[in-house]
Amino acid sequence: MSSIVAIVGRPNVGKSTFFNRLIQRREAIVDSVSGVTRDRHYGKTDWNGRNFSVIDTGGYVLGSDDVFEAEIDKQVELAIGEADAIIFMVDVETGVTAMDEDVAQLLRKVNKPVFLAVNKVDNSKRLENAVEFYSLGLGEYFPIASTSGSGTGELLDALVEAL
Ligand code: GDP
Ligand code: MG
Repeated sequence: MSSIVAIVGRPNVGKSTFFNRLIQRREAIVDSVSGVTRDRHYGKTDWNGRNFSVIDTGGYVLGSDDVFEAEIDKQVELAIGEADAIIFMVDVETGVTAMDEDVAQLLRKVNKPVFLAVNKVDNSKRLENAVEFYSLGLGEYFPIASTSGSGTGELLDALVEAL
C-alpha cells in the first residue's frame, strides 16, 4: 500500500494547482469518488523514487465564495483520518485568515506529519511576508509557488522523508 498525502486548506490558496503539478505526466488517474468524498480528487505520483497517493480536497467548492467554515473542517477531518501525511496550504497573498487559524487548530492536535506550505511566494517581498504564518503555531513552513514550481522540491523532499 502506498502512502496517502492530503492537501488541505481553504479555497483558492492553490491546492489544485499544486496537485496538478504533482501528478502531471504521471499515471493519469485523477478521478472523482462518489458520495461523501465526491469533492476530492485522487492522484498517484512519485518523488525521489518514492510512490505515494495524493488527495486534492475541496474541489467541490472551487470558485465558490460562500463556502462554510464547517465544510472545510469536514474536509480536513476526513483527510486527517485517511492520510499518512498532510500538506496544509495557505496563501501569502491574503495572509493569515480566520479560516487558516481554524484549520491550524485542528491540525495541531494531529499525530501525523503536517507540512505547512505557504503558496504564491512569487517574489522576495512575498518571501518576507511569509513569516507571518509562524503565528499558526505549526513551526517551520515551506515557501512555494505552485505555478512556477519554486520551492516545491524542498517541500517534497521533506514530505517523502516522513512517509
Ligand atoms: P484551490 O481552490 O486551493 O484548489 O486553488 P487553485 O489551485 O484553484 O488556485 C486558485 C488561484 O490561485 C488560481 O488562479 C491559481 O492560478 C492561483 N495560484 C496558484 N498557485 C499560485 C502561485 O504560486 N502564485 C500565484 N500568483 N498564483 C497562484
Ligand atoms: Mg481546488
